[in-house]
Amino acid sequence: MCSDGLEVWFLTGSQELYGEATLRQVDVQSREIVALLNSGPEIDVPIVWKPVLTGAAGIRRACLDANSSDTCIGLMVWMHTFSPAKAWIAGLDLLRKPLLHLHTQANLSLPWAEIDMDFMNLNQAAHGDREFGYLQTRLALRRKTVAGHASDPVVRARTGSWARAATGWHAVQGMRLARFGDNMRDVAVTEGDKVEAQLRFGVSVNTYSINELVAAVDGATPVAVDEIMMQYDNTYEVAPELSPMGDRRESLRYAAQVEVGLRSFLEVGKFDAFTTNFEDLGGLRQLPGIAVQRLMAEGYGFGAEGDWKTSLLVRALKVMGRGRRGGTSFMEDYTYHLGPGEPKILGAHMLEVCPSIAAGRPTVEVHPLSIGGREDPVRLVFDAQPGKGFVVGLVDLGDRFRLVANDIDIIPPDAPLPNLPVARAVWKPAPNFSTSVESWLTAGGPHHTALSTAVDIESLEDFAVIAGVELTHIDIATTTQRFRRELQWDQAYYRLAQGLARG
Ligand code: MN
Repeated sequence: MCSDGLEVWFLTGSQELYGEATLRQVDVQSREIVALLNSGPEIDVPIVWKPVLTGAAGIRRACLDANSSDTCIGLMVWMHTFSPAKAWIAGLDLLRKPLLHLHTQANLSLPWAEIDMDFMNLNQAAHGDREFGYLQTRLALRRKTVAGHASDPVVRARTGSWARAATGWHAVQGMRLARFGDNMRDVAVTEGDKVEAQLRFGVSVNTYSINELVAAVDGATPVAVDEIMMQYDNTYEVAPELSPMGDRRESLRYAAQVEVGLRSFLEVGKFDAFTTNFEDLGGLRQLPGIAVQRLMAEGYGFGAEGDWKTSLLVRALKVMGRGRRGGTSFMEDYTYHLGPGEPKILGAHMLEVCPSIAAGRPTVEVHPLSIGGREDPVRLVFDAQPGKGFVVGLVDLGDRFRLVANDIDIIPPDAPLPNLPVARAVWKPAPNFSTSVESWLTAGGPHHTALSTAVDIESLEDFAVIAGVELTHIDIATTTQRFRRELQWDQAYYRLAQGLARG
């Protein structure tokens, strides 16, 4: 379960017209639908049944209660019978939580031989939900629509993707993100409007002096550092020079001290995400490497060089992918293999790749960093586990945010990389190298991304819809010509949707 006490509320619409006996059946059958949804492994947030709604006052109250609930992360709504949709205007107009319209019906099969008008009057979601769909469109509500019987695993999986997106959305609402230092000097794409980020995603992004972190590192107790050292020794393959008898053991000890200090800073400040900048290390002796990698593996968001937008994304995806196979990491498109054979991308960073995507046991190594001018930093080194996933980046276009995603296939490196002292992933981007990269560049996609093999792309799409942020998705069907036109349509749409005031 990724839910942590969170829940999705299930609202059923009807009206008083049908009489008490029918409403009792609606009551029973809507509970059965909820039980069906909860019965499979696909949806890992509990769906909580709420009493059947028959009028505007009750609907408005249910929406207000959902807004003010700290545990309700979204509403699922279904019109079992016919619920005249004007009754939903006041409630839906106030609703601030993610919305999924489940278009289903109680019965799987049509009882051909027995069907009569009583059955018809009870089971009329086919037009009841059309009435509801119209109103949602009329109100320009962002929502997901899922159609099919609740016993269908595909229906439940698509609902589950949305529920995961809603957990990610819930996680970023009110989230605190700490930046140690500002952006890497002169870099454009990692800049952005932090006021807009707080309005759009709910994330508060603030800078802290690196020397506040240094104070926390200096305050790490020897006992706490010993504990982390033991974890290093037990969890990873430690390079001989860093091992207990090794002559560079002290470098590992300092890395462990950084980890203790960084974790305590984040815990005390209730931060779920952070950034560092190698140009601003204050009194730190090493650029944080293994500490950042392990905190990411615990679920923290991270972006290097002050990149708070990618840190935000990594955190949201960490929450959305919790409990699933695969992992999520901060990533950077680093360099290419353009041939012979199929072109591929080598992704890595100076140090900070999350071991949740590792194939096998990482090694702990210490090597010089050619930039930054500090002591050699300790890092975890590994190859990424092969598998399907995506990379996604977030850019600030000046007037709004854009998400750019690309389906990828992580593959083993063509040959071992014995001289590369950083963790890395090698992947083939969909639909092919040139279409992917041309599209990414045309969209203005960033060089920093969040890479995930744990989250499905449908969840990412649902997250973008909930946030009201454009998501351009480069996939197997993308062509550069059509992609360029899609960007132009999106540009027009999002400018219009924003209107003169806020959209
Ligand atoms: Mn970078």
